[in-house]
Amino acid sequence: MSPSPPLLPQPEQRRILRTELPGPRSRELQRRRDAALPGGLGVTLPVFVDRAGGGVVVDVDGNHLIDLASGIAVTSVGASAPAVVSRVREQAARFTHTCFLVTEYDGYVEVAERLNALAPGGHAKRTALFSTGAEAVENAVKIARAATGRPGVVVFDHAYHGRTMMTLAMTAKEVPYRTGFGPFPGEVHRAPYAYPLRGPGAEEALAGLEALLERVGADTVAAIVVEPVQGEGGFVVPAPGFLAGVERVARRHGIVLVADEVQTGMGRTGTVFASEHEGVVPDLLCTAKALGGGLPLAAVTGRAELMEAVAPGGLGGTYAGNPVACAAALGVLDMLRDGELLERARSIERTVRARLEPLAGALPQVAEVRGRGAMMAVEFVRPGTDEPDPAPAREVAARCHAEGVIVLVCGSFGNVVRLLPPLVIPDDLLAEGLDVLSAAIRGACGGAA
Ligand code: PMP
Repeated sequence: MSPSPPLLPQPEQRRILRTELPGPRSRELQRRRDAALPGGLGVTLPVFVDRAGGGVVVDVDGNHLIDLASGIAVTSVGASAPAVVSRVREQAARFTHTCFLVTEYDGYVEVAERLNALAPGGHAKRTALFSTGAEAVENAVKIARAATGRPGVVVFDHAYHGRTMMTLAMTAKEVPYRTGFGPFPGEVHRAPYAYPLRGPGAEEALAGLEALLERVGADTVAAIVVEPVQGEGGFVVPAPGFLAGVERVARRHGIVLVADEVQTGMGRTGTVFASEHEGVVPDLLCTAKALGGGLPLAAVTGRAELMEAVAPGGLGGTYAGNPVACAAALGVLDMLRDGELLERARSIERTVRARLEPLAGALPQVAEVRGRGAMMAVEFVRPGTDEPDPAPAREVAARCHAEGVIVLVCGSFGNVVRLLPPLVIPDDLLAEGLDVLSAAIRGACGGAA
């Protein structure tokens, strides 16, 4: 076998605009895309990528964009981290697939062992691997039902859990995710989430949860599934005490507490798991996105006695725990080990707050700057009200995109701009991205740039 070529050097870590965005090559590719792909596949920024790494995405026209999205919270360690790429290359050269249900490999076992050790709680744990976040959430529901013999699933207002039928039943936002796709599986009940800006507070939301359980019969509920910080729903950090309260309610009724850490997990919020911020110990914990460092890998990690409730053959899938994705995850887990990236996430929060919080005081449209770690957001309202306003969020995103800074919009009302920079983004690049974002916010809100 010929030796593998050296890894490419990281793309130059600075913003470079050589053409308008999207440039001519991207526009040409977009024409082919539009003719070959359905429009149901939306796109944030119709730019085609040549390379990516660190805090930069390089497009096919040679523009260097500042990445404040990480492919929706996936490339936390960078899109071409040597620790990930070298393991992927080595594994791909050995074998790409066997199906773990047919013949086994050690990478799967090592990922499971390391997640078992990292997940909160000193109890015995087991991990099963899957490919996508939605698949992990679906399997957590299957495991909770098998373990309890109960059908019900409680989820929250503003929740997002995926695009499969069960996870759509669990997802709150109608347009565009659910429209036209029903009917959805039943036995899914929705409780209030403690959303500090909009209410209810922690106590009121917990009372709502208890009232719901009273109504449907707590002994019919297998699982309460909660995002410790809501992602697509608007980067909502719940009011203090809410998560711990949900945990208490679950324990009181013998309900399995499932933390959906698909977006918040693997260091994004400054701890390995966001559940740790309130000392919550989920019974089952779902991870995906950043776990595979860009390769499709997801996991359910949980109490051994719950995980063992499923009979052999009840879990798994052809690709679930693919060996190349496991190799990538081991690279990610190596990079998380010394805690430096967790500190980076916390320092990104400090930088973002210092730069953006003054805007909340200065501009009546900016209701709040919030988030945890490298998961930060700005929520927009109509001046003088708390009515959500999606228009400035859309305009801010469009202005950022035109200037070569990738940001995303989210929120039940589409009125939140969110930032998910790679944890490895250099300080000066983050500062420049925030300069562009601040100017875009001032421009969109009628303040001086
Ligand atoms: N849960 C949460 C909290 C998520 O943010 C997402 C994806 N945005 C999912 C589940 C679904 O993950 P996937 O797209 O990998 O199926």
